[in-house]
Amino acid sequence: MDIRKLEDWYQKHHRKLSFRMTQNPYHIWVSEVMLQQTQVDTVLPYFERFIQKYPTIDELAIADEETLHKDVEGLGYYRRFKNMHLAAKYIKDHHQGIFPKTYEEVIALPGIGKYTAGAIMSIAYNKPYSALDGNVIRVLSRYLGNPHDMREEKNKKVLDQYNQQQIERSTPEVYTQAMMELGAILCRPKNPKCEECPLNTSCFAYQRNEMQSYPYLSRLKEKKNEFYITLIIHHNEGVYVRKRTETLLNGMYEYPQFEFESIASVVQFLEEKGITLVFHGESSTYQHIFTHKIWHMIVCHVSLVGKPDSDWIWITIKDLDNIPMSIAHRKISIFK
Ligand code: SF4
Repeated sequence: MDIRKLEDWYQKHHRKLSFRMTQNPYHIWVSEVMLQQTQVDTVLPYFERFIQKYPTIDELAIADEETLHKDVEGLGYYRRFKNMHLAAKYIKDHHQGIFPKTYEEVIALPGIGKYTAGAIMSIAYNKPYSALDGNVIRVLSRYLGNPHDMREEKNKKVLDQYNQQQIERSTPEVYTQAMMELGAILCRPKNPKCEECPLNTSCFAYQRNEMQSYPYLSRLKEKKNEFYITLIIHHNEGVYVRKRTETLLNGMYEYPQFEFESIASVVQFLEEKGITLVFHGESSTYQHIFTHKIWHMIVCHVSLVGKPDSDWIWITIKDLDNIPMSIAHRKISIFK
């Protein structure tokens, strides 16, 4: 690979993103965590607000968990922020609040895998550690004409080894960012801008006009369908919510919901607990698509006769905006 051409291209053409104009490892860490599964344009305002609110790792470490959840509401995949919070506490306690400098210490932090460790080590410390994300997989599988299934770890590993060889011949901080940027703005999934690409003279896919054949990704398993009866339980000027303890969306609030086939089953289930539901008008349906599953929700507005369930928490309608809630439920109208 012509590393010099790639790096020159990056210096001239990269987007001036706030988290790409810093070598502060804390800022790079936050941005990389936010960018996992989330688009750059969505991340930018969150990143800026977050760094303003938590300017140091120590401040992040002592943040209230619920407030932190609220600060990242809308980005999805909340477990990554839970891990980030844990890692910040660990850095505060074991590294005096200073982001560690060795690969071994970085990858030992909660929620930091090989990709994130490689990104931080190369961008913040200019050390040659490969950072292979989805964009770089696309660039390299096209560039090398690698026909293997990139859902399989063993095939990604081959690209990772190649990426490692290249970064060892380069200026790591520039190389990593150049590959990410190339994947984002030129080597796009559809309609790559190969004419502008600094790698085009030696790109296998471009030379054969086979860009769309790479990367090869086998079909994903079908998403699992889950069916819920979701209750907006009105009481005085508020509603009841519960805090999730399940792995998915752990710590986020939601309206009480039941994985039952019919409203009648929920009525019977709650009757047995001494709770009678009074229905207000027609139900409505909502859907939310996660990576691996789809929630189908029948939403009913109700009020209660009897004591509420012990894990339901009453909250005013005004305060609903101040608690962390997943988008799946945030989009449900609480008005009948
Ligand atoms: S030439 Fe096209 S396909 Fe090849 S790396 Fe560049 S943008 Fe991607």
